[in-house]
Amino acid sequence: MANKKNSRDLKFWIKKPKCSSCNRVLTSPNMWCPDCGEYVSVGPINGHYSDNPMNSMWDLSEFLPNFSKKISLSEGATPILNVKNIKNLQGLLLKLENRNPTGTFRDRCSSLIVSHALSKQASTVHSVSTGSYGISLAAYCATAGLKSINILPQNTELSKIEQLKIFGSELIQHGESLNEAREYAKAMNQEQGIYIPKPKENLLTIEAQKTIALEFFRIYGDNIKNILVPQGSGSLTMSIIHGIQDAICSDWLKIPPRVISVSLKKDSEMSYLIESLEIDEQEKKLLSEVNKKLKKNNGLNIEIDPNQMINDAMELAKKEGHFIEPASASVISAAKSLYEKKEIDPKNTIAILTGSGLNALNVFASKIRKIKKVVWGLAPASTCKFEILNLIAENKADNGSEIWKALGKKHTRQSIYQHLSQLEENGLISAKMKTKKAKKYTLTRKGFEALDKMRELIDLI
Ligand SMILES: [Zn+2]
Repeated sequence: MANKKNSRDLKFWIKKPKCSSCNRVLTSPNMWCPDCGEYVSVGPINGHYSDNPMNSMWDLSEFLPNFSKKISLSEGATPILNVKNIKNLQGLLLKLENRNPTGTFRDRCSSLIVSHALSKQASTVHSVSTGSYGISLAAYCATAGLKSINILPQNTELSKIEQLKIFGSELIQHGESLNEAREYAKAMNQEQGIYIPKPKENLLTIEAQKTIALEFFRIYGDNIKNILVPQGSGSLTMSIIHGIQDAICSDWLKIPPRVISVSLKKDSEMSYLIESLEIDEQEKKLLSEVNKKLKKNNGLNIEIDPNQMINDAMELAKKEGHFIEPASASVISAAKSLYEKKEIDPKNTIAILTGSGLNALNVFASKIRKIKKVVWGLAPASTCKFEILNLIAENKADNGSEIWKALGKKHTRQSIYQHLSQLEENGLISAKMKTKKAKKYTLTRKGFEALDKMRELIDLI
């Protein structure tokens, strides 16, 4: 039985995955060797050049595993456009991965992973992701006729949950963090017919994403000298490095360009707006492997401020007409900074924009409305009352003036006093005279109960 399974797995590899340390050849798409724990990879692969216009990433199927049934929503073959209007960046090439079926570069991975699930005769795909990857997988499961189940932490943002439901995914919410949800998913009974993609440990993620690099080398070849990649979990950078290897092996490229991996300063006051900061052990391992490869190939790591990144995402929308997710815009911030240091020429540099701004609408809305968290469907006045209750409950401020300051002085003092008096009238807070002029507020029992209920409803950071 085991042999039969193995032969089915062996069939789809054009070049079999091999451990970088002990040289063990693998049949299943594991990123890590089951014997020695080291990085496993495929390739390099030698493919043919064609100047036919591309319709999807599957036009590069020579570089991809060969599944008997391919599940595709026409992912990949995304456009490459120049920056026209942003000062100092004119000519910078933009690889628009936001133009994929569900607005993310992960659609390339979902296409391979769901094709693999079908080849394994799975009936259900289990995934744990609070980001676009889970939504993308749900869409591909829908088109493949597979059942999709997503295990998510309790505080997952509403817009993500709704998108998953729209694609017909069944949701299980468990734990406070992504890691807790992952542990829960692991502990769930692994019944037959269930496929768990484990995208961060799955070699198909790396293989699918390398087609991004192949698509631009196919057109620009050695004219590209720098590639700007958002670091995230490290998997995209790793894919680009593999794409370079395949392009060299195929003679589409002679001199490997410099890969610049862009990460975010973690201590910024805007960090709370950025998703996927939760790095698990697998990601640490992958990042260290990526850094080894960058070092070996004259690559570069650059850190930028998340606040700058969001401003650059908005500038890209206003001046160029591309609405991309904040993490994608990190490459624009990096391009500006490297241009100032005379380290890159935008005209021979390509920046990968990984996903659509629609997938992170709350981040932009928070920024535009200057509030910490947008609660969809809740009026700005109610959001402000909620913020006031939180400040008092957490002993961060207990009088009008302190509350006004703690909320960043973005409301008028008068409106803060009005909210306080309405909260007092409704019995949610009570006041004692602190000095002759200033009132000191505490939450009443009713106030604490109301706050608890609101916290249950609202994804509170
Ligand atoms: Zn090994």
